[in-house]
Amino acid sequence: MHMDLVAALDIGGTKIAGALVDDRGRLLLRAQRPTLAQEDGETVMGAVEEVLGELTASAPWPRVRAVGIGSAGPVDRSRGTVSPVNVPGWRGFPLVDRVRAVTGELPVELIGDGVAITAAEHWQGAAQGHDNALGMVVSTGVGGGLILGGELHPGPTGNAGHIGHISVDLDGDPCPCGARGCVERIASGPNIARRALAEGWRPGADGDATAAAVARAARAGDPVAIASFERAAQALAAGIAATATLVEIDIAVIGGGVAKAGDVLFTPLRRALRDYATLSFVQGLTVAPASMGTDAGLVGAAAAALRVGPGVNGVRRQAV
Ligand SMILES: [Zn+2]
Repeated sequence: MHMDLVAALDIGGTKIAGALVDDRGRLLLRAQRPTLAQEDGETVMGAVEEVLGELTASAPWPRVRAVGIGSAGPVDRSRGTVSPVNVPGWRGFPLVDRVRAVTGELPVELIGDGVAITAAEHWQGAAQGHDNALGMVVSTGVGGGLILGGELHPGPTGNAGHIGHISVDLDGDPCPCGARGCVERIASGPNIARRALAEGWRPGADGDATAAAVARAARAGDPVAIASFERAAQALAAGIAATATLVEIDIAVIGGGVAKAGDVLFTPLRRALRDYATLSFVQGLTVAPASMGTDAGLVGAAAAALRVGPGVNGVRRQAV
């Protein structure tokens, strides 16, 4: 049997998706359940087991050589546990052991969702061909991941590159993580909307007070809406420039709902980058919108599984 497939799981606050993926990143078979995020931990795990059950019962399952999991974080890759902020029933939950109980002796790789999306963008998306890249998701929160020296760099716990919680405002607002002035506290969608409202922006007749509505107002020329996106762009630029200075990335790929604002975000972001990325070795830094769609989490989890699974000749690849 040619073991040319991996199983991928993408675990988020609203859905649990699974797929069998080939070594070119094509999704052959999918399964999905809603995440009953407010239920107890066993109920959430039950949905994961149902997704896995559909995969393991499928005809191609014997070709699977490894399992990759991208999960909402924090995750702990070294312990195989997850504690997703939006799934209170899972705190230090032994997800890897529970998945192994279904999938047997296959290698299992666990990474954070921001790391998974970065792996997907590097494999098939906007970071393709870049050996040193930062992937970012800017939506309800701000997450990320790193490609260094051509390889995914998940770090010991699987959270490396979590740019949302580096501080760019030393005495800034308290962040739910416990620090102050984090990128996320300034640049996430809810914080863009919160700041616009605090400065006097008001939603239109539809009552939509999300960052998407602020983006529409900015595009129509509303100065308060424009200023809120400029502030978010400034925070992102400072974080991206710091990352580039530390590890010499040459591209930051940005996805998530806030990135859909397009030029409303990217124009001030590119301008602010020139203010913060000043040393000669970071001046070539570019930013680009993510190009993977909603399957990015699954494709990235598959990429992680391909790194740890036995190679096609049966030789186990070096684990990270
Ligand atoms: Zn924080």
